[in-house]
This record gives sequence, structure tokens and C-alpha cells, in this order.
Amino acid sequence: MRERIARLREDAVAALEAAERPEDVEQLRVQYLGRKGKVTELLRGMGSVPPEERPHVGQLVNALREELETLIGRRKETLAAAALEARLKEETIDVTLPGRGPVLGRRHPLTLVLDDIKKVFIGLGFTVVEGPEVETDWYNFEALNIPPDHPARDMQDTFFITDDILLRTQTSPVQIRTMSAQEPPVRIIAPGKVFRVDADVTHSPMFHQVEGLYVDEGVTFSDLKGTLTVLARELLGRRPVRFRPSYFPFTEPSAEMDIECIMCHGAGCRVCGNEGWLEILGAGMVHPQVLLNVGYDPERWTGFAFGMGIERIAMLRYGIDDIRLFFDNDLRFLRQF
Ligand SMILES: [Zn+2]
Repeated sequence: MRERIARLREDAVAALEAAERPEDVEQLRVQYLGRKGKVTELLRGMGSVPPEERPHVGQLVNALREELETLIGRRKETLAAAALEARLKEETIDVTLPGRGPVLGRRHPLTLVLDDIKKVFIGLGFTVVEGPEVETDWYNFEALNIPPDHPARDMQDTFFITDDILLRTQTSPVQIRTMSAQEPPVRIIAPGKVFRVDADVTHSPMFHQVEGLYVDEGVTFSDLKGTLTVLARELLGRRPVRFRPSYFPFTEPSAEMDIECIMCHGAGCRVCGNEGWLEILGAGMVHPQVLLNVGYDPERWTGFAFGMGIERIAMLRYGIDDIRLFFDNDLRFLRQF
């Protein structure tokens, strides 16, 4: 019997040492100490032990039970600690690795150009005003000296909503709204969306314009030339400019402003159509009839106005050859600015 106990102990200790996983240890516990386990079995075999030895053998079996309980407990702890160690190692975060930065947005090229235009005019004492994109015929056409039979009203150019309501084809109605609401002097620029029935690589049915208006006593064509020359220099760099006679119903005299071609520096190329010059805006002295339409006395007040396309300036400045790129929302394009 003592031999049996000693062998059982040896087997149990060896099996415990070999156990690699907590569930193996648990299995050994059931195997030895469970209700039908080997140690319990020893106690059942007490009947074959001579009565005088029974107390001593009983002590031995109980000592073995206690020893095995302790050993099993330790083995479980050791394995649990090793498992934790392994898990910590596996899940380690290297805090010295560089992080991933947040993706930064960029300003749209049209916003960049408009911000530069605003900077020039705010520096010259102008204020920025806005007007509605849905306009009446009066503000968009009639008050600007564009009579009902003018070709600009053609259905091919204008998005009409009703006979009298339309999407503004230009930012010029903001001139009328501003002058109707206040007395001179007036110094404003009015940026915003305008709409025309037109779509190809250089025309979009929606695009952006900036309108400028300066009305005061003694404003002359020299003021127009000086102001717009400063504007062109700030937007597109210092290069020769010229003013060509032109016609707009709401200015008299009217002019278009050119800058020396950015691509060929005046030699003539495909971009400038071999002219050596690029048109950048239209301007003129405010027509006396327009001043009368808003209740100003044209004998006392004079002024100049201009309008320019923001997309056109951005295309020249950044060498963009398709206006649709501005509105495609392609990040590969937008990230370049
Ligand atoms: Zn050129």
C-alpha cells in the first residue's frame, strides 16, 4: 500500500510538470482528486489494509491529497502567469512609432483667387457685398440698360424661371441693388455664382464672377485704369496690360483689359491665338442711364464698374485648360493647390 501511494505520487508530480496548458492541469486534478479519482480510490482500498496500519496509511493518503492540491494550484498559477506574459508581449504597442497625421483639407483654387481679389480691394477701401442668385428681369437686365430686345436675354443664354424671374447671368445686378439702397460714395466688390446656358471646356453653366463698382464725385477713366492695373499685377504678376475699346450696355465708354500672354510673353502662341495678349476682364464708366435708374444725378456722380470671371483668372494663373476640373471634386486635382 505504501508503495502504491509513493508510485501514485511520482506519476502525479511528473504528469503535472509535463502539463503545458491550464486545461491539462484541470484534467489531472479531476483524474487524481476528483470523486472517482485515483487518490479517492486509494481510500476505498483501505479495507485491504490491516486495521493497525489504517490510521497511518490514512495519514499518508491525506498528506498526498494536500500535497497534490498545492502542486496543482502552483502549476495553474505558473501557467496563467506565462500565458499573461505571452499575451502582453504579443499585444505590445510601440509608442515610439510615428503616428498617422490627420488628412488636411486645402483651399479650392477658386477660393484662393477670390481671396487675393478681396485682399486687393479691401486694401483700397472697398467692401464685399453679395446679392441673390435668383433675380428679377429688372435687376439683371433692364436697370442695367439692357432693353427687352437685347440679344443677352435670348433663351439660349439665360435660365428663365418665369418671364420675369431668372438665374442671374452676371453679378452686375448687385451694383443696382447696392446703389438703390445707399447714397454715394459707393465702393464695392460683389463676388458670386452666375448662370448661363453654355457648357464646354471653357464654359460652365454655373461659374463665378466678381463685380466691382466705384461711384463718387470726380471718378475718371484714369481711376479705372489704375485700379485694374493694380488688380492684374496682384493676381497674375507684373506684366504689360492694355485696354481695348469694347461695348457693354451699362457702361460708356467701355473697355476690355488684356495682359501680355503668360505662356509666350507676347510672341504669340496657341493659348493667346497668336495675339500675344489675353483678355482678363470687361470694364467701363457707369452709363448715365444706369445712374438715373437708381436715382443718382449723373451730372454730379461718376463711377466705373468692372466684371471678371474667377475661373478664367484661375485657369490662366495655374495653367488649367478645362473649366470642368473646378467642379469635379477630384482630390488628385484639388490637392495640387
Ligand atoms: Zn501666347
